[in-house]
Amino acid sequence: MSEWKEKVALVTGGTRGIGHAIVTELAKFGATVVLTGRDGEVARTAGNDIPGSVLGLGMDVCDRAAVDNTVKQVLEAYGRIDILVNNAGITKDGLFLRMSKDDWDSVIATNLSGLYNCSQAVLRTMIRQRSGRIINISSVVGLMGNAGQANYASSKAAVLGFTKALAREVASRNITVNAVAPGYVNTDMTKELTAEATSKLLENIPLRRIGQPEEVAAAVLYLASDDANYVTGQILHVNGGLYM
Ligand code: NAD
Repeated sequence: MSEWKEKVALVTGGTRGIGHAIVTELAKFGATVVLTGRDGEVARTAGNDIPGSVLGLGMDVCDRAAVDNTVKQVLEAYGRIDILVNNAGITKDGLFLRMSKDDWDSVIATNLSGLYNCSQAVLRTMIRQRSGRIINISSVVGLMGNAGQANYASSKAAVLGFTKALAREVASRNITVNAVAPGYVNTDMTKELTAEATSKLLENIPLRRIGQPEEVAAAVLYLASDDANYVTGQILHVNGGLYM
């Protein structure tokens, strides 16, 4: 589709799982996609199996200098950034009373401060272009909470506040900011779930299955597309009905 041909997208944590599916979908529709990942070696090759224009670069979202350097490289290569997908995220689960400060800090640093780093780094470019899309990956856990995930739930709830605040701040520049809140999705992040935990979980999901990364990517594609020109500050829930 022609609307995508001129677009340059930057996706964080694109080496696997949901991020990899988002890169694949954007590239399939014809966007130029910069796939970034914490490990440079992995990031450089993670897009090799994806047809289309994909450039893999190492970038730790917690490292502001690395983020600024990546944005500089993207601008030198392509001259613009239309879409930022803040997807990189981690879990460090544990009951709150026993949760170490390191496990708290690292989840907040990646899942929340990573958005500060990446969004601030691209915003000047988007303001100059007078257009842009920022799409943040939150989680159903940020809305419902989850025992053993106080750090993760806090970070993902904060992503929603950040989304709405920034959406109000940059709307006059024709930049939209939205969030996608996935439910349970089949990736490395959820592969540790026991069969018992999975079957218990499914009882609460009206569609009776966990989601696929492509189903989250489809929601991101919509928010990045021209069809969503008038949508900002919203949370798109992709959770099989787990939370409504
Ligand atoms: P995943 O663990 O398969 O992939 C996470 C990606 O983020 C990896 O590429 C990883 O290398 C990258 N990453 C982690 N820390 C990084 C850092 N500091 N800098 C750069 N990249 C970093 O997980 P996933 O399931 O694909 O999750 C993607 C996003 O979706 C995350 O934000 C996650 O919280 C969210 N999410 C996942 C689920 C789920 O059920 N899988 C549900 C809701 C939300």
